[in-house]
Amino acid sequence: MHQLIWFRTDLRVRDNTALCAAMQAGPVLAVFLLSPGQWRSHDDAPCKINFWLRNLASLQKELQALNVPLLIRHAEHWSDAPAVLAGLCQEQKISKVQVNQEYGLNETRRDRAVAQRLAALGVDFTSHMDHLLLRPGSILTRTGGYFRVFSQFRKVSYQRLQLALPSCLALPEPQAPLGIESDSIPTAVPGFAAPSVALQALWPTGEAAALERLDGFVDQHLDAYDRQRDLPAQPGTSQLSAYLVAGVLSPRQCLHAALRNNRGEFETGSKGAVTWINELLWREFYSHILVGFPQVSRHRAFREHTEAVPWRQSPGELAAWQEGRTGFPLIDAAMRQLLATGWMHNRLRMVVAMFLTKNLLIDWREGERFFMQHLIDGDLAANNGGWQWSASTGTDAVPWFRLFNPITQSQRFDPQGHFIRHWLPELAHLDDRLIHAPSAVGSLFAVTDYPAPMVDLAASRERALSAFKNLSAPEPGHV
Ligand SMILES: Cc1cc2nc3c(=O)[nH]c(=O)nc-3n(C[C@H](O)[C@H](O)[C@H](O)COP(=O)(O)OP(=O)(O)OC[C@H]3O[C@@H](n4cnc5c(N)ncnc54)[C@H](O)[C@@H]3O)c2cc1C
Repeated sequence: MHQLIWFRTDLRVRDNTALCAAMQAGPVLAVFLLSPGQWRSHDDAPCKINFWLRNLASLQKELQALNVPLLIRHAEHWSDAPAVLAGLCQEQKISKVQVNQEYGLNETRRDRAVAQRLAALGVDFTSHMDHLLLRPGSILTRTGGYFRVFSQFRKVSYQRLQLALPSCLALPEPQAPLGIESDSIPTAVPGFAAPSVALQALWPTGEAAALERLDGFVDQHLDAYDRQRDLPAQPGTSQLSAYLVAGVLSPRQCLHAALRNNRGEFETGSKGAVTWINELLWREFYSHILVGFPQVSRHRAFREHTEAVPWRQSPGELAAWQEGRTGFPLIDAAMRQLLATGWMHNRLRMVVAMFLTKNLLIDWREGERFFMQHLIDGDLAANNGGWQWSASTGTDAVPWFRLFNPITQSQRFDPQGHFIRHWLPELAHLDDRLIHAPSAVGSLFAVTDYPAPMVDLAASRERALSAFKNLSAPEPGHV
């Protein structure tokens, strides 16, 4: 009898909990399900699906070295997964399916349905904690609830990690060849157009590339992370999110790399390392929120009373934001970065999200969806968390009366306009002052091919403040 590892968002052989468990238990086959219908309903970006497919090809090579064949099956929607996997288990005489746990509502329902279907066939289904450092439900308040505030979550997380640091697992030994052929990996899936070669080149695939990126970041940029992380023109952040989301890299590998560089210290030593570890914990926090408050999986506001915000319907303004035609250079440069690379710098994600939800007063769900449709690192937990933070509808959200001014943010975080000049060459000739607000340019330097600001910042700020001010306050103790 064989073991089956069902790969999902854990596309690696190193430090992979389910793979190690399966290989210890017996001869192993691997499977990946192509689910384009489900991916479409989740708004997964074509560049993300392309990244997965390219990583699957790398994974297949890694598995070959372990003599583990990788099969590809089609389950259009996850509701088809139980039947497809049941068929495969019968065909290949599988006694046990092992997976690494995923935390969204649909993922949880899918796994429950698969486990039930397999149980009826006498096939065991085992789910492992792998995607996170800390098991959701293990970091709770004194009264047993999930934390709603990051700083409190972080404090308890640090204590827990210092007591019991999860270690990285060794690469399994190759098994004896099974004589089963691997399937070929498709290079494209209908409905998900391959992104440009230039975009693909930015995101080399496979574990070796991911580990090289991690090591390069830790060696060259980690120490300065606290000072550089908000400057979009600098290579100050790791750009590892896509690898973490696809599971080409594990959070344990990231944490250990940072700790190695910081003499094992979590909260002391290099400020850069401490700040970066903190970001890894934001990733944990939002995944725990997804489990503790399943309404966020259904795109409901975390703070229920904010469902009453009078969001504006303005398809024209939404399109201008999406296409980088707002007339605010930092916003437009950021949106062009997203469209061209599948990624956007974290500071800019906050700035553009706040502009959409506050200055344009457009529903955060529109921005959340657009981001998912274009991000190579699109992740329900982090994306929803980031959007609800920016819209002041989320757990630990920015207070509704604190709005970023996109021009001030631009002056502060891209002072010489390097980032803007890169993405908006039509503004490259402007000086360091005017580049942030070209509408201030007199006729002498007129910028003809760049739009005027689409809103008045002061008036739109007042509109947002009054929209939020008029919400009835939540009952004490409620969010
Ligand atoms: C509106 C909005 C939407 C976002 N959508 C996503 C998303 O879909 N997928 C995603 O992975 N991140 C998302 N983020 C979080 C963050 O912007 C990205 O994780 C980060 O920019 C990725 O770049 P990096 O790998 O260089 O990060 P680094 O600064 O090097 O951080 C290291 C890792 O920590 C994690 N991380 C960092 N910041 C956050 C954060 N605020 N929340 C959760 N995890 C974090 C990521 O896994 C990241 O790779 C969003 C943030 C906002 C404000």
